[in-house]
Amino acid sequence: MSLLLLGSWEQDGAEARLWAQVLGDALPGEDWLFEAPRTPAQAAEVEVAIVANPPHGSLAGLPSLRLIQSLWAGVDKLLGDPLLPAGVPLARMVDPAMNEAMVQTALWAVLALHRGFFEVQAQQRGHVWRQPAQCRARDWHVLVLGLGELGLRVAQSLAGLGYAVQGWSRSPRAVAGVACCHGDALDDALAQADTVINLLPLTAMTQGFFDARRLARFKRGGSLVNLARGAHVVEADLLAALDAGRLAHAVLDVFAHEPLPPQHAFWTHERVTVLPHTAAQTDPHSAAEVVAANLRALRTGQALQHVVDRRAGY
Ligand code: NAP
Repeated sequence: MSLLLLGSWEQDGAEARLWAQVLGDALPGEDWLFEAPRTPAQAAEVEVAIVANPPHGSLAGLPSLRLIQSLWAGVDKLLGDPLLPAGVPLARMVDPAMNEAMVQTALWAVLALHRGFFEVQAQQRGHVWRQPAQCRARDWHVLVLGLGELGLRVAQSLAGLGYAVQGWSRSPRAVAGVACCHGDALDDALAQADTVINLLPLTAMTQGFFDARRLARFKRGGSLVNLARGAHVVEADLLAALDAGRLAHAVLDVFAHEPLPPQHAFWTHERVTVLPHTAAQTDPHSAAEVVAANLRALRTGQALQHVVDRRAGY
């Protein structure tokens, strides 16, 4: 039986070669296929597909497939494949190194917003010497949307720094130091938050989540930090809210179209900080260990880790 590695990689092939090498080192002695099977015999050999958003349809026709293991945390593109084999477990990546990086990005954004450092940066360009207001962390309210692998760690880390943290999820959660809520409590939580951090998955329920109606629920002068998916935001509505001064700032790591087109208004907007989808990348070395552990679980009949609930979409 063989392992199939498929992805939509960077054009020069370096990314594909790196993954092939790191996974090969972590899973010695395996038979590998690094391109879609060419013959029915090759297709029949594939036991596990290790994937990074492969082209739609490329996982169809693999009769022995027992596991689809994503190398990326978000599976919205994979689930959008109408030919994704039904009935085969789909596991997503939960990578300790990625979790660590996401916490760093979220802490940086909250610290910069809370202490006015984005404004200070802009002031430097105009040679302006002005000290921003300094308030206690406990008086700065942060709302984390999504209390999953990433949101939970971000909420806990911010609470550890003394911020007043609320967290919102689909089902009720209890997290020490974090005021958790779910469902309809969102509007009240939005109205209190100085900074809203988005770490929701992209699903049918959360597509276009930040539209004009929801942005109008934000505290006046609040800020949005979107570290999840570009399609969570209705970009025109966000721009209108920023232009109207309803929102003070947006830190955006993800966009409807990536790379962000050169003419996009976000690039030069004084209230927007653009990141190139770099909040938290999968680390090939730690991710390879996660893949190896799931492969071992599959072959020894243990429970698979991080299996996606296809109906919920995450
Ligand atoms: P996760 O573990 O699946 O957690 C999702 C959380 O969102 C859960 O707490 C879930 O609630 C909550 N949720 C889902 N649907 C909801 C809804 N309709 N209403 C309220 N809450 C809802 O996800 P994750 O691994 O933390 O990833 C979060 C996001 O980060 C994803 O969008 C992923 O694509 C993105 N991401 C971005 C980067 C980057 O570099 N920018 C890197 C990695 C991941 P329950 O707890 O009740 O299930």
